[in-house]
Amino acid sequence: MGVSTQTKRATVGGYNGNYSKKLLTDMQNRGIMNLRSKKSLTFYENSGIINNMNGQNNNYDFFQKTLHDIEEKKRVLNYEVGTLISPDGKVIKEYGGEAHSIHIPETDKPIFEGNIFTHNHPGGRTFTQEDILEFADSGAIEIRVSTPQGTYFSLKERSEDVNRSIGRVMQEEKIGDYAKSTNMILQQMEDNNINMSIIEQKSKIYDIMGDDIHKWLMENATEFGYIYKKGDI
Ligand SMILES: [Zn+2]
Repeated sequence: MGVSTQTKRATVGGYNGNYSKKLLTDMQNRGIMNLRSKKSLTFYENSGIINNMNGQNNNYDFFQKTLHDIEEKKRVLNYEVGTLISPDGKVIKEYGGEAHSIHIPETDKPIFEGNIFTHNHPGGRTFTQEDILEFADSGAIEIRVSTPQGTYFSLKERSEDVNRSIGRVMQEEKIGDYAKSTNMILQQMEDNNINMSIIEQKSKIYDIMGDDIHKWLMENATEFGYIYKKGDI
């Protein structure tokens, strides 16, 4: 406490106090603070992108629009679709999936580096442990989940010192673990003498897993060099 997140991010990015608070917020919203080093920040300053941010038609506006349109379209789907987007808003590749999963071929992993991966969860919940394990490790600068409710969850690199073992730590600590959540539900049913259909049980199990992951990421993402956020598409 005391030091605001903004200050911390700014320090990590090599910022030394010349930007207004509003501009910093803009930069964070537009993902510029994802850039990994002072060198990158300087590049964006020199290229005029930062100065140009309040103008129209820049790459960040285009990226935001592409992202918004893609996530909005997925709201009606009852299966998952993953989309890999470059920071300047180009769709690199799309992956069709099933109700609860998307398979990314191992050979595609290298193209995730430096890009943004967004996929939808028709059930409306946040990341799964597998999402974090697979995608945080891939080198994508941001991974996202969009939902039919019109919300998104985002896990975004905050600095170059990002610790990509985040998924493995979650796995070790059994955060969002299926067996752990199933046991909790079975215990609750037994304690309260309730009957639930298999479908109801599954839904509660996924709720517990989602809540567990959401809470853990809210508390711990920063420590690993990530920003975890929930917002509107
Ligand atoms: Zn997922």
